[in-house]
This record gives sequence, C-alpha cells and structure tokens, in this order.
Amino acid sequence: MSLVVTGTIGIDTIYLPSGEHREEVLGGSCSYFAAAASFYGPVRMVGAAGEDFPQEMHAQFDNFNNIDATGLEVREGSKTFRWGGKYMTDMDQRESLFTELNILGEAPPPVPESYRDSKLVFLANSHPGLQLDFLKAFGERTLAVADTMDLWIDTARDELTELLKHVDGLVLNYDEAEQLTGKQNTVAAARGLLEQGPTFVIVKKGEHGAILAHSDGSIAAIPAFPSEAVVDPTGAGDSFAGGLMGQIGRMTEFGRLGKASDFDTLRSAMAHATIIASYTIEDFGLGRLNTLRHDEIESRYQAFRDMLHIAG
Ligand code: AMP
Repeated sequence: MSLVVTGTIGIDTIYLPSGEHREEVLGGSCSYFAAAASFYGPVRMVGAAGEDFPQEMHAQFDNFNNIDATGLEVREGSKTFRWGGKYMTDMDQRESLFTELNILGEAPPPVPESYRDSKLVFLANSHPGLQLDFLKAFGERTLAVADTMDLWIDTARDELTELLKHVDGLVLNYDEAEQLTGKQNTVAAARGLLEQGPTFVIVKKGEHGAILAHSDGSIAAIPAFPSEAVVDPTGAGDSFAGGLMGQIGRMTEFGRLGKASDFDTLRSAMAHATIIASYTIEDFGLGRLNTLRHDEIESRYQAFRDMLHIAG
C-alpha cells in the first residue's frame, strides 16, 4: 500500500470546558492523520513546520513505526502554523480562538520523488488551492479523498468547488456540509455535494457518528463508539480519516476500490475510522495514539461490531 497525506503540521492550544488548558500540543491535520493511518500500514507525510518546531514534537513521529516523514520540511526563517480552540460544555462544539497561518501562507513543502508513485492520496485540511496542487503531484493515484473546514469554505470557496471535481471522496463535518450546500439535512447535504463531483461523501457528526453517501445511491449510518473517556476531541476528524484511508489500503490491493464492493469497503473502513478516533480523544494531542496497541484496536473494533449487531 502506498498512502500519502498532505496537510498541516501545527502547534495547538486547547481550552477545555473545565477551564483547563494545554499549550504547545503537537497537532495539525497531517499529524493526526498519519499517526492514525500508521496502525493500518505505511503512510507518507507531506507537511511543513517552521524553525520554532520543537525537536520533541518532531521526534513524536518516530514513535510510529509506519510513518515516513521524509516529506516533513522544517523551514528556517519560518514559523509553524498555530491554532487555538475552545470546546463548549458538550465537547461536540468548538470555537477557533486563533488561527496563525504562518508557514501556510508561504510556498508549500516539496513532494519527495520517492512519494510520486503513491496510489492513495489524502488531502487533509489545508487551503483547497494547495490541496489541488498537491493532487497533481500524484499522477499514479487510484483514489483521492479530501477534507475541508469552515475557514476554507469562507475564504476559498471557488478553489474548493474546483477541488471537488478532482477528488473521489470528501470527508467533512455536518456544519461544513450545511455551509457548503445550504441544505439543513445530512443526507440532502451529502447528496448535494455528490452532485459537485465526488463518488462518495462522508459527513461526520461527532458524538452522533457519520453518514456515508455514495453516488450509486446507497446511504449508510455508523454511530460513534460510545465513550465516557473524552479528554480532548481535537484530531478526532483527522484520525477518523487516517483510519478510513488506512483500512481502505489494507482491504484493497492497489487502493482502487473494487466496483462491487465499493460500498462495503467504505463501510468497514468507516468502522475502523470510528475506533481509532475514539482512542485519539482519550488524551491531548497524539498522547493516546503514542501508547495504543493493535490488540486494543482489535478488541474495541470487535465490541463495536457486536454493538451494531441486531438480532431478528
Ligand atoms: P480536527 O479536530 O480533526 O478537526 O483537527 C484539529 C487539528 O486541525 C488541529 O490540530 C489544528 O492544528 C488543525 N487545524 C485547525 N484549523 C485548521 C485549518 N484551518 N486548516 C488546517 N488545519 C487546521
């Protein structure tokens, strides 16, 4: 499997409803995605950080055996992307306190030659113009999936509309799907997005799970894993995407979805995505994924499957 992710490397500040907060947490869409996907197979990352990026954060990627960080550029004279977020009482709603684009406003990091043959491409949250440029670097791709968020819908809608014509799948939050389509129903919003180009759309609804809409007309709903141990939901969406793409890679020899099994592959991948995301939120940053074992993933996955079984 050759899975590549492009996205942000960030230093986050997180405020919890309890008033507790953490500064200098390793974050960014690329970081969470790569850590989660690495449990399923090798993952190549493309991202850029500035000279303020602590060595200790850089070293965290080495803890994940399957992460190839050749494409992680640490640029002299630049500052790392920084984001601050505050969670509301129910932990499902959050507000961005600040977004300092810093290096994201500069030239994108180069794609290493050794990554060019990647078959599965995930464009994690970043400027859609940049996402489109990255996509062009992977001429041998068999599946391209993108994520987006409110900031880009507000500031780069035309580029986002263009991007949707070039990707096979789109993964986004419900609020963003609503914002993009003007439709206040998950299925209607997902179907509206399908009309703009992708073959499938996954709309995430936090604690309420996710909906998959496919251009063949099928719809599936997957609940979230019921968890009491939520510490910091940051990165749940990116880890979900990492589990999704990782499992797609594991289930399909070359990453190309088989026609007949498209929908089933995606549904199984969504279940894995759900499980890995449920672990991410048990600690700040990559804290929980750093110590996560494969047997823990497997046992929660089995518990999730049992939970979904309806007798009779
Ligand atoms: P998630 O909770 O999965 O939506 O992802 C949270 C991560 O996204 C944080 O670690 C942030 O550093 C990163 N992030 C926040 N805003 C943006 C943005 N506008 N573009 C890309 N990444 C972002």
